[in-house]
Amino acid sequence: MKWTQTLIPTLREAPADAEILSHKLLLRAGLIRKLAGGVYTFLPLGLRALRKVENIIREEMNRAGAIEVLMPALQPKEIWEQSGRAETAKDVLFKVRDGSNREWFLSPTAEEVITTLAANEINSYRQLPKNFYQVSTKFRDEIRPRFGLMRAKEFIMKDAYSFDTTDEGAMASYKKMYDAYTRIFARCGLQAFPVEADTGVIGGNYSHEFMVPAETGENEVVFCEACGYAANIEKATSGIPKTAAREIGAAIEKFATPGVVTIEALSKEPYKVPANRQIKTLVYIADSKPVIILIRGDDQLNETKFAAKTGAVQIRPATPEEIIILLGASPGSLGAVNLDFFNHSEDSRKILLETRKTRGWENVKIFADERLQGANEMTTGANEDGFHFKNVSIERDIKVSAWFDLRTVSAGEPCGKCGKVLKIRRAIEVGHVFKLGTKYTEKFNATFLDVDGQRKLSVMGCYGIGVTRTLQAVIEQCNDKDGVIWPLSVAPYQVCITPLAVAPESEAMKLAENFYAELTAKGIEVILDDRDDRPGVKFKDADLVGFPIRIGLGEKSLAKGEVEIKPRNAAVQFVKTENAIEAVLELINQKI
Ligand code: ATP
Ligand code: MG
Repeated sequence: MKWTQTLIPTLREAPADAEILSHKLLLRAGLIRKLAGGVYTFLPLGLRALRKVENIIREEMNRAGAIEVLMPALQPKEIWEQSGRAETAKDVLFKVRDGSNREWFLSPTAEEVITTLAANEINSYRQLPKNFYQVSTKFRDEIRPRFGLMRAKEFIMKDAYSFDTTDEGAMASYKKMYDAYTRIFARCGLQAFPVEADTGVIGGNYSHEFMVPAETGENEVVFCEACGYAANIEKATSGIPKTAAREIGAAIEKFATPGVVTIEALSKEPYKVPANRQIKTLVYIADSKPVIILIRGDDQLNETKFAAKTGAVQIRPATPEEIIILLGASPGSLGAVNLDFFNHSEDSRKILLETRKTRGWENVKIFADERLQGANEMTTGANEDGFHFKNVSIERDIKVSAWFDLRTVSAGEPCGKCGKVLKIRRAIEVGHVFKLGTKYTEKFNATFLDVDGQRKLSVMGCYGIGVTRTLQAVIEQCNDKDGVIWPLSVAPYQVCITPLAVAPESEAMKLAENFYAELTAKGIEVILDDRDDRPGVKFKDADLVGFPIRIGLGEKSLAKGEVEIKPRNAAVQFVKTENAIEAVLELINQKI
């Protein structure tokens, strides 16, 4: 390809709304352009790199025995109602109506479509296992599209769905995908590692995310260098001990704490109740029902764990008004000891009880973090402004409905597996594998006739890779101050030939054309920078776009019978003109 034939609109400066380096480089290197927030056009070079990533994915999916299909982006609303996700995934669904007012959803993923297909087309154990995949455009109404391709409203995803006759079979399919993912990211030149993950609204019971370490990543990963434990913070646990119970639990006692509304204030003079002897009381609305959550004063609630453990789909903190109806007090003095408004006047108590009843909120659930199990001599709010209870023995004084691990792990805690110190780092999620079980096959009645003549539900897994996000993750990981440093495997072109004179009869241009023809004939992807521009501009652009190898053809070295070969990530070499092709091929073979 000749530079002047294609479109590579490089920029000296990135537009102001590009916040992270990879987003800036995507724009500056002329790889993509924004049409609207979270919606991008791929320019020729960006598209070439994207196709490389897609092809690596296809090769590895095929190698793992998956078969390619292509499902529609336009999906009838009814199948989403059948799965229940019209409601649970409603926040991200793009909805459209056709001329006859029928509602459709633009595919954010395709469990519903593939399970409908499986229900119709798979009938016998002889047809199983099967793993279907596609590479296609997905749509998600992200509230905050940002960081370019990282969180877009329209993006390309590879999604795969496996169907097996048994749970063990499903596990084997999962393992195949897990291994394929490991190979895919390595081949893209990415350092990615798997971590245990929450399953979210997709459901299922076993899941890993593939993470690329990056300061700008939107995920936090908890990991242990000693034993290799790694989990998304939304799921991570640690070996931190439970709260120590003290020998004699004294009787509960109310005491005045005027103006105290924070854990911190209570931990100071004159009260001096350490945060780890306080119970933090939070009120949430989970699927329209209030829930009281208790965690230790020095811990943070993990909302994802809360939803996952309790099976809640939609959760949000309760409003101050809702909290008054439930506990008769304002945040800062809340507790779960006295839930019956006994500290209120008879009239006020009556009204509060009545309001609670009208809302159907009488039997509110209290979920407590496991770290509080057995704790006594704790302090908590008395549901009365300016008062707290002390000597609270949680199991004696509070009617806990269920205990769960609800807290967020912090760096420095002991690893739950080996006891060594846990660390936390930020990362980009590029892929996600789930074992789904029969969640969708039940809903769509996707059954098969087994060898024993019984009709059974097939067992599913689903596996996603954000193709466009992966491409940007490569840039986020592979760059320097001058621009992108493409790994050979995903570079838009492997070689850029830069003649410093471009007149057709010049020696540099003639040689450039020869090299171009020879390398292209050998299957190398070459771009020839035939722009009549200053050398500085051409070299800068080649570095910015990040071609793995640049061949410089200048008057001075040509006079010595030499050309300049510059790997993007290594020092320049001067090579005799007649050895140049060989030198380039060698570099490519070494997979520089
Ligand atoms: P996230 O937690 O980042 O929102 P997710 O867990 O909702 O992602 P999945 O449903 O697991 O995403 O989708 C599979 C893959 O698709 C993700 O691992 C990610 O790489 C990619 N992906 C998801 N949402 C987006 C998006 N808005 N823009 C670009 N890629 C995305
Ligand atoms: Mg995910």
